[in-house]
Amino acid sequence: MEYEMRAEYVEGASPRDPEPRFEVWHMTRLGETTGLCGRELDPDAATQTADVWATPAGLPLCHACGASYIHQVPHVDLP
Ligand SMILES: [Zn+2]
Repeated sequence: MEYEMRAEYVEGASPRDPEPRFEVWHMTRLGETTGLCGRELDPDAATQTADVWATPAGLPLCHACGASYIHQVPHVDLP
Protein backbone atom coordinates (compact mmCIF):
# COMPACT_ATOMS: atom_id res chain seq x y z
CA MET A 1 0.00 0.00 0.00
CA GLU A 2 1.30 3.40 -0.97
CA TYR A 3 0.39 6.64 0.68
CA GLU A 4 0.61 10.33 0.01
CA MET A 5 -0.11 13.47 1.96
CA ARG A 6 -2.97 15.78 1.03
CA ALA A 7 -3.53 19.31 2.30
CA GLU A 8 -6.56 20.52 4.20
CA TYR A 9 -7.30 24.22 4.03
CA VAL A 10 -8.84 26.48 6.63
CA GLU A 11 -12.61 26.66 6.81
CA GLY A 12 -13.99 28.37 3.74
CA ALA A 13 -10.70 28.38 1.84
CA SER A 14 -10.32 26.50 -1.45
CA PRO A 15 -7.23 25.15 -3.17
CA ARG A 16 -8.43 27.20 -6.14
CA ASP A 17 -7.93 30.43 -4.21
CA PRO A 18 -4.91 32.45 -5.35
CA GLU A 19 -3.25 31.89 -1.96
CA PRO A 20 -5.13 29.12 -0.19
CA ARG A 21 -4.68 29.17 3.58
CA PHE A 22 -3.26 25.78 4.46
CA GLU A 23 -4.36 24.11 7.69
CA VAL A 24 -2.89 20.63 8.09
CA TRP A 25 -1.59 17.61 6.16
CA HIS A 26 -3.56 14.38 6.11
CA MET A 27 -2.36 10.95 5.01
CA THR A 28 -4.35 9.24 2.26
CA ARG A 29 -3.93 6.09 0.23
CA LEU A 30 -2.29 7.00 -3.06
CA GLY A 31 -4.79 8.58 -5.44
CA GLU A 32 -7.58 8.83 -2.85
CA THR A 33 -9.05 11.98 -1.37
CA THR A 34 -10.22 10.61 1.97
CA GLY A 35 -7.78 10.90 4.84
CA LEU A 36 -6.98 7.89 7.01
CA CYS A 37 -8.93 9.79 9.67
CA GLY A 38 -12.03 9.71 7.44
CA ARG A 39 -11.87 13.37 6.47
CA GLU A 40 -12.98 14.16 2.91
CA LEU A 41 -10.39 16.33 1.20
CA ASP A 42 -10.60 18.45 -1.90
CA PRO A 43 -9.54 16.62 -5.09
CA ASP A 44 -7.73 19.83 -6.08
CA ALA A 45 -5.83 20.08 -2.80
CA ALA A 46 -2.05 20.01 -2.87
CA THR A 47 -0.40 16.65 -2.32
CA GLN A 48 3.12 15.58 -1.50
CA THR A 49 4.95 12.33 -1.09
CA ALA A 50 4.62 10.39 2.15
CA ASP A 51 8.44 10.43 2.23
CA VAL A 52 8.29 13.75 4.04
CA TRP A 53 6.51 12.06 6.94
CA ALA A 54 8.20 13.07 10.19
CA THR A 55 10.11 15.89 8.53
CA PRO A 56 9.36 19.62 8.83
CA ALA A 57 7.84 19.56 5.32
CA GLY A 58 5.16 17.19 6.56
CA LEU A 59 4.03 19.34 9.47
CA PRO A 60 1.56 20.04 10.83
CA LEU A 61 0.10 16.58 10.42
CA CYS A 62 -3.42 15.49 11.35
CA HIS A 63 -3.02 13.56 14.61
CA ALA A 64 -5.65 10.97 13.73
CA CYS A 65 -3.99 10.30 10.38
CA GLY A 66 -0.60 10.08 12.06
CA ALA A 67 -1.83 7.48 14.54
CA SER A 68 -3.52 5.48 11.80
CA TYR A 69 -0.48 5.68 9.51
CA ILE A 70 1.81 4.40 12.25
CA HIS A 71 -0.55 1.49 12.75
CA GLN A 72 -0.76 0.64 9.04
CA VAL A 73 2.89 1.18 8.26
CA PRO A 74 4.60 -0.27 11.32
CA HIS A 75 8.15 0.42 10.16
CA VAL A 76 7.84 4.20 10.32
CA ASP A 77 9.29 5.97 13.32
CA LEU A 78 7.45 8.48 15.43
CA PRO A 79 8.56 12.04 14.74
ZN1 LIG B 1 -6.48 13.26 8.93
